[in-house]
Amino acid sequence: MDRTALDILKSVYGYPAFRGHQAEVVAHVAGGGDALLLMPTGGGKSLCYQIPALLRDGTGVVVSPLIALMQDQVDALRQLGLRAAFLNSSLSAAEGRRVEAQLLRGELDLLYVAPERLLQERTLELLDEVARAPAPSGLALFAIDEAHCVSQWGHDFRPEYLQLDVLAERYPDVPRLACTATADERTREEILQNLRLQGGRVFIGGFDRPNIRYRVVPKDNPRRQLLDFLRTEHVGDAGIVYCLARKKTEETAKFLNEQGIAAVPYHAGLDAKTRRRHQERFRREDGLVVCATIAFGMGIDKPDVRFVAHLDLPKSVEGYYQETGRAGRDGLPADAWLCYGLQDVVMLRKLVDASEGDEMHRRRNLQQLDAMLGYCEVTDCRRQRLLAYFGETMAEPCGNCDTCLEPPDTYDGTVVAQKALSCVARTGQRFGAQHVIDVLRGSGNERVRSLGHDRLSTYGIGGELDDFGWRSVFRQLVALGLLSLDPEGYGGLRLTAAAGSVLNGGRELRLRRDVLMRAAPKERKRRAPAALIVDPEVEVDAATAALFERLRVLRHGLAAEQGVPPYVIFHDRTLAAMAQHRPASSEAFLLLSGVGETKLRRYGELFLAEIRAAAID
Ligand code: ADP
Ligand code: ZN
Repeated sequence: MDRTALDILKSVYGYPAFRGHQAEVVAHVAGGGDALLLMPTGGGKSLCYQIPALLRDGTGVVVSPLIALMQDQVDALRQLGLRAAFLNSSLSAAEGRRVEAQLLRGELDLLYVAPERLLQERTLELLDEVARAPAPSGLALFAIDEAHCVSQWGHDFRPEYLQLDVLAERYPDVPRLACTATADERTREEILQNLRLQGGRVFIGGFDRPNIRYRVVPKDNPRRQLLDFLRTEHVGDAGIVYCLARKKTEETAKFLNEQGIAAVPYHAGLDAKTRRRHQERFRREDGLVVCATIAFGMGIDKPDVRFVAHLDLPKSVEGYYQETGRAGRDGLPADAWLCYGLQDVVMLRKLVDASEGDEMHRRRNLQQLDAMLGYCEVTDCRRQRLLAYFGETMAEPCGNCDTCLEPPDTYDGTVVAQKALSCVARTGQRFGAQHVIDVLRGSGNERVRSLGHDRLSTYGIGGELDDFGWRSVFRQLVALGLLSLDPEGYGGLRLTAAAGSVLNGGRELRLRRDVLMRAAPKERKRRAPAALIVDPEVEVDAATAALFERLRVLRHGLAAEQGVPPYVIFHDRTLAAMAQHRPASSEAFLLLSGVGETKLRRYGELFLAEIRAAAID
């Protein structure tokens, strides 16, 4: 009679096999053990508590700060035929009581609860009662999602999370699993300590997101560059464009709409209703672009975000990794695209300088900025650099980032670097890159003349590069630590101690030759939905693409009827498998990844009929 974890994975979720640490974690928690699970976004953490909750007697209680998501999560579980509900402040008193009654009657497999709700004495007393109930009722486990919210160090700190240690005290026999996608050591320690999980096991999944393709382009005309990127590679795709300033999110959304790309802004300055509406549209529509500040973040678990674009430099590699991690949770190809220029660095330095906080804090922020700059300017594999930052080593270059796909051309930059550095020195180490470039290129502009910089020995010695080329040189010199930006935040460049060895000829430099508007990597030029691309070299045939579209329309209708996001019916990946394999029987349909017994029963006939109809049309 005992169902095994694998049976459940197959019959309920319709997946053929566990991934990574999943099987181990499930066995450990189902056996009553506590654990901390670190896995990247999209790694499959949810199954790690859902399946043990099904294997054990009673209800699994999932603590999550993401109230806005609970409805979708519960909808997704119900689509799988599971008994799920949530308790948070969005429910009316009567609705809340109904859920509580279900819980007491042992009618729930999973219950999602907001931390502040859980910590109310009333809720804890309710749980006490459930915990005392005889099998098959009771408490199966506690899952603490987004567990990094307990860390005071990180930026998602939630004070309520600190009180979750009550669970250890009050329910010592109920296993607890804390989950997070945040990697760093310090956060990990804080979670173990604050949630009293020191006796548990720690599972650390690799942090690589192999389906995300990283790319950094030098900023020239950022809007135009964004538009080209979207038009050549992401027509009709959902994605996020991150900007630093609120105003820019609005301008960018407006611009995209004018260009025929549906987009909405999102930032903390918009009223709550508008924010909710925009987030809601993003979740339910197939191809909306959200132009957002980092306020649009946690709580996006839309699986089919096909790109994350940054129009401004993120403040740290951690932030960048977290933001880009919102792309491609479904494992299908996705892009992380970043457009940056030296002006971004100037701007961020200014912000750091204006920020409150002690010297230590400022220094740390500057270090983070330097690391980000270093990432932008790498000439070898970007993914290797990113993972190294998180303490993970990758033996081989990834083959799926811009520097791997189109290795940058490098040249002996010793002489141009000397020219640039000495021009900075001659102009008095006070000016920003653009002015120094004007001097180097012999510009006759007013400012250059009025300062008398047209009489300097470095005036006009830089004819070998254009503006774009020089900007690239200056970015690299800053990233290499040969030039620094003035601490006042005006963008003035200064020589560092390290510059001396280059100036006196004691050090050779290889620099990267940036190419303006790099064409999109060849294989992505032809557009097909990401889900259908099995092999980038092989064209997606028209019949498959057409069938996929029909299935999407069918799915959309079903989702709208039930008021749920399309992906809780079937993921793109499952629709793609239908379009490719064209199952003709229930048995064949059940073999598709993502089709379990409940979904077969609910939707099998409809989708099989659509596939048959398409064959005739
Ligand atoms: P996380 O919470 O770690 O970000 P999720 O639990 O939401 O990730 O899982 C990401 C996606 O991967 C979901 O669509 C999930 O259904 C799918 N998934 C998880 N485990 C498996 C598996 N073993 N096989 C196939 N798909 C899986
Ligand atoms: Zn690479």
